[in-house]
Amino acid sequence: MTDAAHTAMWERLDLDLAAHDALLAVLGKFYGDIYLSQQGRLKGAEYLDFVLSEVHGLRIREIQEAKAAGQKVVGTFCVFVPEELTLAAGAVQVGLCAGAKAGTDKAEQLVPRNTCDLIKSFIGFKLARLCPYTESCDLVVGETTCDGKKKAYEAFGEHVPLHVMEVPQCKAPCDVALLRSEFVRYKQALETLTGNVITAASLAAATKRVNAKRRALQRLAKLRAADPAPISGRDALLVNQISFYDDPDRFTAKVNELCDEMEARIATGEGVAPKGTPRILLAGCPMAVPNWKLPYLVESSGAVIVGEESCIGERNTRDLTDEAPADLEGMLDALAARYMRIDCACFTPNTERLEHIAALARDLGADGVIHYGLLFCQPYAHEALKVDKAMEAAGLPFLAIETDYGMEDAGQLKTRVEAFVETLA
Ligand code: SF4
Ligand code: SF4
Repeated sequence: MTDAAHTAMWERLDLDLAAHDALLAVLGKFYGDIYLSQQGRLKGAEYLDFVLSEVHGLRIREIQEAKAAGQKVVGTFCVFVPEELTLAAGAVQVGLCAGAKAGTDKAEQLVPRNTCDLIKSFIGFKLARLCPYTESCDLVVGETTCDGKKKAYEAFGEHVPLHVMEVPQCKAPCDVALLRSEFVRYKQALETLTGNVITAASLAAATKRVNAKRRALQRLAKLRAADPAPISGRDALLVNQISFYDDPDRFTAKVNELCDEMEARIATGEGVAPKGTPRILLAGCPMAVPNWKLPYLVESSGAVIVGEESCIGERNTRDLTDEAPADLEGMLDALAARYMRIDCACFTPNTERLEHIAALARDLGADGVIHYGLLFCQPYAHEALKVDKAMEAAGLPFLAIETDYGMEDAGQLKTRVEAFVETLA
């Protein structure tokens, strides 16, 4: 696709072309510094580089072609939106960029300044007309996971076609029933949007596709237990980030290819860092594209990241949806059961998350855990204190970091991370 064709497409999507060009220039430089500078990358990382280089180009063209062929596009911000239903309705699901500062001044006219950067980012991208995914959406699903998001959707809903999905905050049987009823309501919204009826056959097929994607990501996650680490934390994070954008079947095939290469590498004892390099498990808030600040700081401080206990990571891929039910009602039960196992900090109590982090650190051979909280995120700030105690009980060194999308604190964070990594060596 030529530059002129890209520009014409972005113009049709009513992007602010000058600001968008500036964004792509910054993103390209950032990617070059953080990703292309890595040593010993897998050959399969070419797929990651290509997808990122065309994230606003070829993938958007594919989405526009799908729309021209009659498919609808659904944008999401949270792993509680069941992709199984979206695909079963014949729609395309995309995660909406919320990993960079953009349009902050405009966003702060709609939400308070002391709102987390993830929320300000999705509002800012929309108001500044910078995101071709948001502009491609026929429906955006906003879920009520935290107070910041649910109040922000009141303002955001004036700018996008919005479906609000209620997500329970406890895990009693009545909460499972609530989530299931919300999935039924989402199913109806999809059927109205697309004109397609979701059947047992279409939902079973979609569930298989989404599970296949999760299985590939689980396979990749498990291979990271090897020492030396066969893939960098940055590349593994990028794989998880891309899982929210790329065509699901192509993505699954590419991740399995990456895993084949990782297995071959493990067999010969190769890795991205020498055996014995301090191994870190990151835990906490999700890191959306292009939020690579902390992974870069960790991996440029003499450590390697071996796992992400995060929604852009293990929390999103750990559980499969049961494929056994043959009827629609049973499938909806299975969906509700699967999604209720997500251990988001928005739940109370949420003790299983503490157990998951300790088990994950053990399984991956992590030497220490770094908890990442986004500034002004109350749920994860509270849980950082609990994770600290749980890691102490598990005998795992722990560091809590709270930061935002800005680079102003990068030097100070690096000093803290380096000091922490030194204690692990
Ligand atoms: S951390 Fe919670 S609110 Fe955020 S994406 Fe994950 S499940 Fe959704
Ligand atoms: S990072 Fe925290 S405050 Fe921000 S949207 Fe997620 S749960 Fe809400």
